[in-house]
Amino acid sequence: MANKRIYLCLAHMSEAGIEQKYIQEAFDTNWVVPLGPNVNGFEKDLEEFVGQNKRVVALSAGTAAVHLSLIACGVKPGDEVLVQSFTFCASSHPITYLGATPIFVDSEKDSWNIDPDLLEKAIKDRIEKTGKKPKAIVPVALYGMPYDADQIMEIANRYDIPVIEDAAEGFGSRWKGQVLGTFGKYGVLSFNGNKMITTSGGGALITPDEDSWREIMMYATQYRESYPYYQHEKIGYNYRMSNICAGIGRGQMTVANAHIGHHKHVFELYKELLKDVKGIEVHGNPDERYDSNFWLNTITIDPELKVKGQENAYKTVVQGAVGGAAGVIHVADSATTDCQPNDNVEAMRVYLDEKGIEARPLWKPMHKQPVYKNAPAYVNGVSEHLFKVGMCLPSGPCVSDEDVRYVVESIKEAIV
Ligand SMILES: *Cc1c(COP(=O)(O)O)cnc(C)c1O
Repeated sequence: MANKRIYLCLAHMSEAGIEQKYIQEAFDTNWVVPLGPNVNGFEKDLEEFVGQNKRVVALSAGTAAVHLSLIACGVKPGDEVLVQSFTFCASSHPITYLGATPIFVDSEKDSWNIDPDLLEKAIKDRIEKTGKKPKAIVPVALYGMPYDADQIMEIANRYDIPVIEDAAEGFGSRWKGQVLGTFGKYGVLSFNGNKMITTSGGGALITPDEDSWREIMMYATQYRESYPYYQHEKIGYNYRMSNICAGIGRGQMTVANAHIGHHKHVFELYKELLKDVKGIEVHGNPDERYDSNFWLNTITIDPELKVKGQENAYKTVVQGAVGGAAGVIHVADSATTDCQPNDNVEAMRVYLDEKGIEARPLWKPMHKQPVYKNAPAYVNGVSEHLFKVGMCLPSGPCVSDEDVRYVVESIKEAIV
């Protein structure tokens, strides 16, 4: 067991190798380009999956989907966009690509997602301060957990502000039975290597109708007018998904529901095995309206809980990316920052790491990120608190029941 590393969420291909079949087909028919039968087929599969008569555009990344939906909402330099602070940077970075300002809104305690009361307060305050309405609202399904779509849509409709749902982590999660990404004007999906299903890298935008679909498609393919030669009336992007990646996506769609089922099963197992462990709480659906895909299972650790080695937490500068997954990061100048997980959380991460288990702190809220120090934020302390006490545990399709038991045993061992 000690030789095998257990990761948070690794890509997992269908047993039948259907992904390979679609890729082979792309090579055989010479569709090795960012369009083609696999792209069209994948989009059809996604449209069927999300329902609600939506149209879907497959893109090169979820980040591209956020970017294009903001453009379609008319976001321009100097505009403001309301966005959940407790998220991965891809929800807010594209706002800055457009020269606009993200306005961060804190979370509610139960779902960990955007607080509707605070959202309305922020809207009123921005209108009062700037004389202008924010151009869009971006709620995020953090770790797959739904946001309160009823309240968010009610507020958004009342102020007539479009909603871009960031369901990148919430593929197949449901609010009152309806798939996330289909409530707002636009819905963002991601198929990065670590997400619920993968195309190696990729994303998609769920659009409300034929016209929006066409407009997004134009922006995704350099905005070319229909002439025999290249004619451009707007600035576009090269964001369309490749036919090779879409082949992986088509194969993955055959196991999407099985993946979601597995993540939910892993959640049930963590909940059962950790229920008697004092000081550790598993984050679950707040009530029956919420139906999380449990993309990542998360726990919170009571600040009073003593964990082995916590007196040495943060004594050394971390040399690689936490979890070692994704490419290049700066080696930090110092071992600590002014806002970081508690010592017992860091000690737990290190303990599990030595046991061959990848665990990771929760995402650091955007309003606490140095790069966003000048962005306005409407806060209530919830996301900052959760960041200090929370942790993500291995949850993907490669995580077996035996792995979950080993993770839980290791957590118990780490407690003094
Ligand atoms: C992964 C992710 C995205 C977009 O991801 P890509 O890696 O660009 O596909 C957007 N928002 C959130 C919250 C994410 O976790």
